[in-house]
Amino acid sequence: MIILLKYGANKTDADEIVGQIASMGLKPLYMPGVERTVIGAIGDERVLEKLHLENHPAVERVDKILTPYKLVSRDLYPIDTVVKIGNVPIGGGHFAVIAGPCAVESEEQMLKVAEIVKAHGGNALRGGAFKPRSSPYSFQGLGIEGLKILNKVSKITNLPTVTEVLEVQDVEAVEKYASAFQIGARNMQNFRLLKIVGQSKKPIILKRGLAATVSDLLLAAEYIVSEGNPNVILCERGIRTFETATRNTLDLNAIPYIKKHSHLPVIVDPSHGTGVRDFVEPMTKAAIACGADGVIIEVHNDPKNALSDGYQSLFPEQFASLMKNIRPFIQAANKK
Ligand code: PEP
Ligand code: MN
Repeated sequence: MIILLKYGANKTDADEIVGQIASMGLKPLYMPGVERTVIGAIGDERVLEKLHLENHPAVERVDKILTPYKLVSRDLYPIDTVVKIGNVPIGGGHFAVIAGPCAVESEEQMLKVAEIVKAHGGNALRGGAFKPRSSPYSFQGLGIEGLKILNKVSKITNLPTVTEVLEVQDVEAVEKYASAFQIGARNMQNFRLLKIVGQSKKPIILKRGLAATVSDLLLAAEYIVSEGNPNVILCERGIRTFETATRNTLDLNAIPYIKKHSHLPVIVDPSHGTGVRDFVEPMTKAAIACGADGVIIEVHNDPKNALSDGYQSLFPEQFASLMKNIRPFIQAANKK
């Protein structure tokens, strides 16, 4: 349920209502806005009806949240959530470019790529230390060693970092060394992992599963937020369809849909979404045009010799021209 307070309702009114909700065994959420205060109540709605909050003098309206997801729903919280990775805001009018190699391969490689990302105005650095590869014979990542490299390079370049956490046992280490968690497509419905990262305060980029609906993605985000971590950034990275011309089908319909139904920021991964480096720039422009709050892009100092996803990684000069060419699109979308 959402309870919208009247203009001029004060903190004492809000506290009283929050107290009543809690006394019925429901979870109250206090969300003071610039103009109005919204109070959420999570739990059995039939219990709440007994309180007849609609009769409270400070209450304007009591509405049911009809969507299966509640905390991430725009019905509950109408204002765009801004999530910060390090000091980089994502959402609410800020457009962010997160870029870097698919995998951390060495300190030298990571530093070279980070310098490219930084030189051309990238906002944050990506790089996987734990890699979920389709084949067990492919490079699996440097593990903890990779996290330490990422952390060192972050300190040198002053770029915040994003890296995938594959398993519950690695959450602590990733939390220690990176600025944000990435939950990969293959783990989007690993509910135990979602709950554990939900107990952290670090931001989380939650990627859409290969065969997940947008509703599945929003419910996965609900798992994280309901554990107490509101810092979730959703990521459209393409889904499996009958189309095989490209690696995945980048579902840009998801962006305006998510914007309409959720207050969480949403970014696009045109690298995994297409699997073709030449399509990364056009799909980045499309992502900006349809309302995305950022992109996460693979770029490598030497894509031909990359240990993972080299074929879809941008050459440094491609990244440079992408960063220049997207500027008018960001401006046209009224973003910074
Ligand atoms: C990645 O970002 O390198 C990655 C493995 O992404 P996804 O989980 O979307 O496949
Ligand atoms: Mn990759």
